[in-house]
Amino acid sequence: MKVSLASALGTCFGVQDAINLAMGPEFHSDLTIIGQLVHNPQVNESLKNNGVDLIQGIEDISKIKTKKVMITAHGAADKTKQKLIDAGLIVYDASCPLVMRVHKTIKSLVDKEYFPVVIGQKDHVEVKGIVGDLDDFLVINGESDLEKIRERGKRKLGIVSQTTQQVDKVESLVKKIREMDCVDDVAFVNTICQPTRDRQIAVWELAEQVDLMIVIGGFNSSNTKKLVQVCDEKNIEAHHIESSTQLQHSWFKGKEHVGITAGTSTPENVINEVHQEILKIAKDMKLKSEPVVS
Ligand code: SF4
Repeated sequence: MKVSLASALGTCFGVQDAINLAMGPEFHSDLTIIGQLVHNPQVNESLKNNGVDLIQGIEDISKIKTKKVMITAHGAADKTKQKLIDAGLIVYDASCPLVMRVHKTIKSLVDKEYFPVVIGQKDHVEVKGIVGDLDDFLVINGESDLEKIRERGKRKLGIVSQTTQQVDKVESLVKKIREMDCVDDVAFVNTICQPTRDRQIAVWELAEQVDLMIVIGGFNSSNTKKLVQVCDEKNIEAHHIESSTQLQHSWFKGKEHVGITAGTSTPENVINEVHQEILKIAKDMKLKSEPVVS
């Protein structure tokens, strides 16, 4: 059984910079992170072990016991940051520059009198941050939401996407919006980030060569789920795992070529552990299928 890694996988620079900042010696256990710094259980566990407090979101502001707080790579609305400052906290901002680009883009579209539309998951922390300073907006996540555009009756739309959306899906939705008779003018800025695109292209290419894909990343990680969707579209069996302990030997039975990919918040050591475990499974299976010569 051959095992191949996708040509682009794992932690992106935005997540890595945020982790490095949170692990910095200046905090000495005086840091609370607002929300998950990354959607990865192992990273969050090691932060907790380093004495860092984690709270779910700004709603839990009363639970903060430290003087210093950190905004995650997913970003936050200016209103949220101000609320933290007003509470007397020192705010460290680990927002990824590519998320901040989306904030700036949507604000500039609103300045040009476009009605803001975000393609993404309305409950995702990144999307909440993108729309958090807007007076009015619409978040759509699929064709079933297109009717909402008609209902809002806005004829001039400024569209951006969550950074971790699937490229094909976003392009197809925008095409359909452009064709709607209730819309006159569509300004679309594709704000899917380059690391997300690279990982989607790499898994697409690898899916053409393998008969099984192992996708590593947090179960709540948006971009990891998109990698699984790409495999589904290519009709390739894919299993989403968070760690090597979740691998099941039965998945590999009869498989000739296994691919490995990982979302943008999956650390290198987790990918290495999974890779090594799969190589071990491949070796075990080979030993079992070879006749014992006495
Ligand atoms: S996935 Fe993209 S936008 Fe999100 S942190 Fe990584 S580089 Fe930044």
